[in-house]
Parts: sequence; structure tokens; C-alpha cells
Amino acid sequence: MNTQQTTQPAPKALEVNNLQQRFYLTKGFFQSLRREDGRICWNDKVVHALNGISFDVQEGEVYALVGESGCGKSTAAKTVIRLLEPAAGQILYKGQDISHLPEQKLGKVRREMQMIFQDPYTSLNPRQRVIDIICEPLLFHKLASNRAEAEEKAVDLLQKVGLRPEHSRRYPHQFSGGQRQRIVIARSLAVEPSFIIADEPVSALDVSIQAQILNLLMDLKDEMGFSCLFIAHDLSVVRHISDRLACMYLGSIVEKGSKDQIFENPMHPYTKMLFSAVPTIDEDPIVEEMPIKGEIPSAVNLPQGCYFYDRCPYAMPICQQEFPEEREMEPGHFVACHLYDA
Ligand code: SF4
Repeated sequence: MNTQQTTQPAPKALEVNNLQQRFYLTKGFFQSLRREDGRICWNDKVVHALNGISFDVQEGEVYALVGESGCGKSTAAKTVIRLLEPAAGQILYKGQDISHLPEQKLGKVRREMQMIFQDPYTSLNPRQRVIDIICEPLLFHKLASNRAEAEEKAVDLLQKVGLRPEHSRRYPHQFSGGQRQRIVIARSLAVEPSFIIADEPVSALDVSIQAQILNLLMDLKDEMGFSCLFIAHDLSVVRHISDRLACMYLGSIVEKGSKDQIFENPMHPYTKMLFSAVPTIDEDPIVEEMPIKGEIPSAVNLPQGCYFYDRCPYAMPICQQEFPEEREMEPGHFVACHLYDA
């Protein structure tokens, strides 16, 4: 009998393959017409928000998407959960292709995948009391057979996220930012999700409250076993919470790997730039100082080669001509940069 134990990777909760997203900047019929060589042409401007990103989230893990504002990480989150229709590519949730699943068949997926947004105040209906906010999804998804049972479950959930039963009768404006995010989390958990998409859930909160909310999310994840796609621009938050991560730039993934691989050995110049921008008192920082220079180029007119060319201190002629393909530098650690061409 073979007694050797082999570690199987956890099943994939989410798999995203070559996902693309575009937005059309059309102002109106006549404004969109232009004359070219004597002919009338249609002049649609297209924002290339996602340019073929691929990653997967294993069951029970926290996968982070990081990058500067405008890199496409929030668009990726909204596309994955089908708040935005993908332009191309594939989204597999627990093996089921949901990329173009009709709205009427998305009900179960919508219940299982819940989203926590950045601003807890705009996520909550100011006219509803907290008890109504949490009872609503319970009754809608028939997870409580009547109002009394829904209220009992709602109060349990509030206690689980660190609020008191008497809070249930108040309105959102009567809470602090941190408390409101706790209410949002309680509402998300009400439908017993197996996948949470958290889009910058702490960036609108005071630093002193951020750690409380992150720890709460982690405790609830361990208790309830959901997987999580975590969107953030703050690397210290990502280090605290993620198992694996992908670094995004102008709608593409430039580097991805485990937390240890990326934090101990960042390889892509953009990842290094992000790390060097994090203040540290460490005398031996992970990367040499490499201040972020320039702005993210327009996503309307994408460069032909590497999107990072104009800002990269290591740029070479080939970088301007050829888009760098992703390479696996060590098991699970992928980088898209010509510096590592074989
Ligand atoms: Fe810099 Fe070239 Fe690598 Fe792009 S491909 S990050 S320009 S070295």
C-alpha cells in the first residue's frame, strides 16, 4: 500500500480565463461621426478596461488583486460577479461557466457570490432600519420562513459582526463608518455565501478601524469557510489578508503568485515600484528605492508593446514593440516582462 501523502490543490471556487472588458465612450450619433478621406466614419472611443486577465481562486483562500487606481481591479470584480457583462473571456464559478449565463439563471450564483463595496454608507438604504436591511435578503431568498425567524437570524448576524441587538432598530446614519461596514458584512453573510468579493472594503475607513474590519472578515472566513476575492491598493492590507495575489497594471496582470513569492521576491518592475512606494523603517528593504514616476497611460489608446514602457526604468527597444507574454518563473509565480525572456 502506498502510504505516501500527496497534497492536492484545493478545488477552484473561481477561474477567470482571458477576461476582457471594454467601455464605449459614445456621446451621441452626430458627435460620433467624423470625416476621413472624404468618407463619413463612426468614431467610437473604446476604453480597454480589462485586457485578457487570467487567475483562479481556490476554495477557502483569499486572492487579492492589487494596483494603482484605474488599473482595472474594481472592473474585474464587477465583471466576475456579472454586474458588468464581459466583452470576452470566460468566468467559471465552481466549474460552471457563468460568463454569459442569462439573468434569470444567475439567481443561485448571485446568492452564493456576495459583494462588499468600498463605501458602506452608499451601500445601505438610508431609509431602512438595520433590521429591515438584513431581513430583506433572508426573506427574498427564502432563508427564513417568516418575519420573526428572519429577525432572529438578523440579530444573530449583527452579534456575529460585533454589533448589539438594540442596534437593529437604528438607521445607517446613526452609525460610524466602521459600524456601517459591519452592517454591510452582516447583510452579505445573511444569504450564507460561499464567495465574497470585497472591493476596497476598508479604504474608506480610519486606519484604526481598518484592522478591526480585516480581522473580522478573516475570523468570519475561518468560521464560515467562504472564499474571497479581495481588491486593494494598499500592500500592507494585502499582506495581512491574502494567500495569493495578482498585480494589475492598465487592465492586465503583470505578476501573480503566492503572498510569500511576491512579497519576498517581487520581479516585475511595476510590482517593485509599488513596493518601493510603501514607507518602511526596515534598514534592508525588499526592493531598492524606485519611486513611482509618471501616470498610467490612457486606456483608450493602448500602447503596442508593454503597457508599462513609458514608466519603466529598465525599458528596452523590444518592450515598445512586443507585448510581454506571461512566464512561470517558479511554480505558481508568473511574470509578464521582457527582462525574463529566455
Ligand atoms: Fe519594463 Fe520592458 Fe519589462 Fe515592460 S517589458 S516592465 S518596459 S522591462
